[in-house]
Amino acid sequence: MNLDKPVVVQKFGGTSVKNPRRIKNVAEIIYSKVKKGYHVVAVVSAPGDTTDRLVDMANKITSCPTEREMDVLLSTGEMQGMAFVAMALNEIGCKAVSLTGSQVGILTSSAHSRARIKSIDAKKIYDSLARGEVAIVAGFQGVSEDDNITTLGRGGSDLSAVAIASVLKAKVCEIYTDVDGVYSSDPSVVKGAKKIDSITYDEMLELASAGANVMQSRSMEVAKKHKVKLHIKSSLKREEKGGTVVMEETEKTDEAKGLEDVFIRGVTLDEDQVRISIERVPDKPGVAAKIFGVLARDGINVDMIIQSSAYSSGVNDISFTIGHSRIDEARRILQEIKDEIGAKEIIIDEKVDKVSIVGIGMKSHAGVAARMFEVLSKKSINIEMISTSEIKISCVVSAKKGKEAVRELHNEFCE
Ligand code: ADP
Ligand code: ASP
Ligand code: MG
Repeated sequence: MNLDKPVVVQKFGGTSVKNPRRIKNVAEIIYSKVKKGYHVVAVVSAPGDTTDRLVDMANKITSCPTEREMDVLLSTGEMQGMAFVAMALNEIGCKAVSLTGSQVGILTSSAHSRARIKSIDAKKIYDSLARGEVAIVAGFQGVSEDDNITTLGRGGSDLSAVAIASVLKAKVCEIYTDVDGVYSSDPSVVKGAKKIDSITYDEMLELASAGANVMQSRSMEVAKKHKVKLHIKSSLKREEKGGTVVMEETEKTDEAKGLEDVFIRGVTLDEDQVRISIERVPDKPGVAAKIFGVLARDGINVDMIIQSSAYSSGVNDISFTIGHSRIDEARRILQEIKDEIGAKEIIIDEKVDKVSIVGIGMKSHAGVAARMFEVLSKKSINIEMISTSEIKISCVVSAKKGKEAVRELHNEFCE
């Protein structure tokens, strides 16, 4: 559809709409963009800790709420946010209409609590923009083909915003949050973390998937695939410039002093990790395929994997990590195949964190991993699992030591 003005998508996270004062502030940000000559689509999250409170309340009613009802419940948080913002805009004389995920045709898979977006029918949004309204869309939610409300996974409003920006070919997708951009580490954990002015899609995707939850990692996959220009900034500071721009190429990637120096972008902490160890399974073909096959069939994402076996002992220990939200299903599925695969024991440890260093040029620098292990060892932090890739080195450590590990690693690599 041809509109008379360019489209900008603005996403406001929970902290940005947590009380009436902040909601009014968000309305001002949107209205000032409208006055600058843009069509604005605002994607809004649930106010403050609404989602967590709804989860807690459901858990007090039943120990196993159905996924369908959980999604119905959690979608109401974002609906509050969008209605409040639309009211605040109307109050200051800016025409706005709120729309649910289902109203704007965000069609998803039927996997409740982790649905994937299949398509977005932009007509409803275009119609409202063409009428001169701001379209306020509820983040984090969609509707499945069988007409059930679905949600997109925690932090999913980022994904809603990026997907809408991609479909509307928006000039930019502005992510407003409670920090003024992406930092070299979580600024609430590492006091000396440094703000990054611009970052590539690849780097941001790695940071997000390693635990930098300032952007949901799935939203970064979509941003990268569709080259959605992102600008992450603070809703509290109200500055046009500043923040972090995510784009294909940045000048900063060769900031390292020498051309071939390794350049560490950031240090991350992922607290959403559970370690599962399947102990003493026979060392024969097909065992790993069986374990990870049944988990994959249920859509359980596995992160780090290690297999260890004493030489010629004939048995293996296989350990891997998953996110907290899928523990119960993973436990049930693995118990079902325990005898079939001949495992002696399944041990689940919820008290682990993953710390990672992310940067370009790791692979050709054997010394980086050694330095990372040295830093942890000096602080007597035991490494339980290790994984390396071209752009990232991750270690699983005890949850008690996660924050300390991140601070020490930041001190070593980013100061
Ligand atoms: P929102 O409600 O706006 O979606 P989130 O809480 O999801 O906000 O994300 C913002 C938070 O992400 C920040 O308050 C910060 O603590 C955390 N964070 C983690 N890693 C980083 C990082 N590398 N840079 C900036 N913020 C980070
Ligand atoms: N309200 C949802 C959550 O807390 C989605 C979001 O905020 O992005 O995870
Ligand atoms: Mg978020």
